[in-house]
Amino acid sequence: HMARSPPWSRLHGGVEGEAIHRGNLRSMENPKSPDDNPRVALITGAARGIGAAVARRLASDGWSLVLTDLVGHEKVLTYALPTLADLEAVAADCGPDTMVYVADVREQGQMDAATALAVGRFGGLDAAIGAAGVIWGGEPLWRTPDAAWRTMIDVNLGGIWKLAHAAIPALLQRPQPRSGRFVALASAASVRGMPQLAAYSASKAGVAGLVRSLAAELGPDTLTANAVGPGSTRTAMLEASAGVYGLRRVEDFGRQQPIGRLLEPEEVADAVAWLCSPGSSGVTGALLPVDGGMTAA
Ligand code: NAD
Repeated sequence: HMARSPPWSRLHGGVEGEAIHRGNLRSMENPKSPDDNPRVALITGAARGIGAAVARRLASDGWSLVLTDLVGHEKVLTYALPTLADLEAVAADCGPDTMVYVADVREQGQMDAATALAVGRFGGLDAAIGAAGVIWGGEPLWRTPDAAWRTMIDVNLGGIWKLAHAAIPALLQRPQPRSGRFVALASAASVRGMPQLAAYSASKAGVAGLVRSLAAELGPDTLTANAVGPGSTRTAMLEASAGVYGLRRVEDFGRQQPIGRLLEPEEVADAVAWLCSPGSSGVTGALLPVDGGMTAA
């Protein structure tokens, strides 16, 4: 994989990588962090879409953030991924207590380094949010190319595993009583059959299963692990899915949801933020649908 890495990944990824620092840590001027010890979150897939909305939402709630994204190219995909400039723009929206770190969720060393950055610069980790994801479709399962299958599983499911592998030990380093949070983006496709998206569906069903077992493991440590299952949400990924189904307008996806419209990334981010908050302490191992009723109907 390293051969396909973008040229600046050596600058911003890897254990020795230089992180881009958006301003004064613990800035006294930051009105969004009235707390002496702001909570610290690591977010994958933060350059756009749902991950970016989660970043903006947690920043406005006063969190310190490490924002990571591949910001690269993925040969098997029929749509473009965001750029470093996109990731930096999200970080600029989030304010001074935000670091950006270019990292591929398939690279354990890069997930470890992003976690170490959060702990090193902000003093610890309170939440890890896996929003990085990719979609490939357009053929039934038996005609899915092996490369597409492997990319879905490696990024969407393997990326959550590698984030957990890096971040759970850091979440456990916080003293009791802990309120650490692990939140993975699953999908309505975790529980509902979606033609021509079998590899994607399999990866997202895997995420729900991973989170259930992780929750069972974490219970006594007072960390929670949950998944959020968005329905059709207005992002670049949804534009790509419209192509799979030959839809002319992404809005057409809204009709399969009882609310009759697309979800906005901020609506998904709201659920993620709640799962990251102390108020969700009784919820673990859940797949929380934020799908306008799609999987209930
Ligand atoms: P998006 O394409 O706008 O954002 C996904 C982000 O993940 C991008 O910034 C991309 O660069 C990043 N990414 C991709 N591969 C990566 C890798 N290997 N390492 C690190 N980062 C990587 O898509 P989105 O709609 O915002 O999706 C966010 C999450 O929500 C995904 O997990 C997706 O599967 C899930 N989801 C989205 C929808 C929807 O309708 N948009 C529905 C259900 C689930």
